[in-house]
Amino acid sequence: ATPTAIMVGTGRAAEMGVLLRRGEALQMLREAKVIALDKTGTLTLGHPALTDLHLAEGFERGAVLGAIAAVEDRSEHPIARAIVEAAQAEGLSPGAAGDFAAIPGMGARGVVDGHDVAVGADRYMESLGLNTAPFAQMAARLGAEGKTPLYAAIDGVLAAVLAVSDPVKPGTPEAIAAFHALGLKVAMITGDNSATAHAIAARLGMDEVVAQVMPEGKVEAVRRLQGEYGRLAYVGDGINDAPALAQADVGVAVGTGTDIAIEAADVVLMSGHLGAVGDGIALSRATMGVIG
Ligand code: ADP
Ligand code: MG
Repeated sequence: ATPTAIMVGTGRAAEMGVLLRRGEALQMLREAKVIALDKTGTLTLGHPALTDLHLAEGFERGAVLGAIAAVEDRSEHPIARAIVEAAQAEGLSPGAAGDFAAIPGMGARGVVDGHDVAVGADRYMESLGLNTAPFAQMAARLGAEGKTPLYAAIDGVLAAVLAVSDPVKPGTPEAIAAFHALGLKVAMITGDNSATAHAIAARLGMDEVVAQVMPEGKVEAVRRLQGEYGRLAYVGDGINDAPALAQADVGVAVGTGTDIAIEAADVVLMSGHLGAVGDGIALSRATMGVIG
């Protein structure tokens, strides 16, 4: 492509809200064969809400919700915010947890009124030596509904299984249809529960799902998809996505996302609308010519 074509293409992209941070970005968008997207905050709003709370025998709702909210009040995770908001909506005013620890991709723990409180994914509970089997069927049902199942433990005893739900962004289904119309394969890569991820991906008609990956696992998944399909565009918004954005042939950050993701990206979506990625790819083909 000529420098003029790149300049014109870059200017037109900017008018569509697609900021190209590198000269090669347009070329790379044109050559993309597969597009991989983070789920939380990219395909979805990234603002989950608590939808379910099932208590184990002998536990009381206010006590459990208050305790986990005290822990989550110290976490930055979107799930944490959902739990704190739910507790506040029920008139609970959780105290501050001591000894707080956030375990990336797993959950969070702390000490509340002298009790050990942990909240997070099934693998987190298992890492603490807790058996989640009695709740597995309930968790599977919540996952099949596209909700993220979580567990709460108090003093080493499972106290509740709960779920949060994060609505799909308006425009996401149309954006995925547009990727398919451009001949691209579409993959979801997420740290979320496998059943949840598959339920949402099936609804959206995605071709591949990689779920329950830790942040390093996102990079590994990107490498595998590159080996399978070729040039890859990755779209993400979180701190967790920065390594995958760097590994991708073209990294696309959602403009409403974290600064760390934006810094790691070649392309920034100013509006946060995924449809702009398809528009950018179509534009790259129009201005640079379709690859023969
Ligand atoms: P994602 O790709 O969905 O942003 P993360 O790696 O941030 O994934 O988290 C993966 C999973 O770890 C979550 O779905 C949740 O089960 C669990 N988790 C992580 N942090 C927390 C937290 N603060 N509270 C509850 N669960 C958490
Ligand atoms: Mg995200």
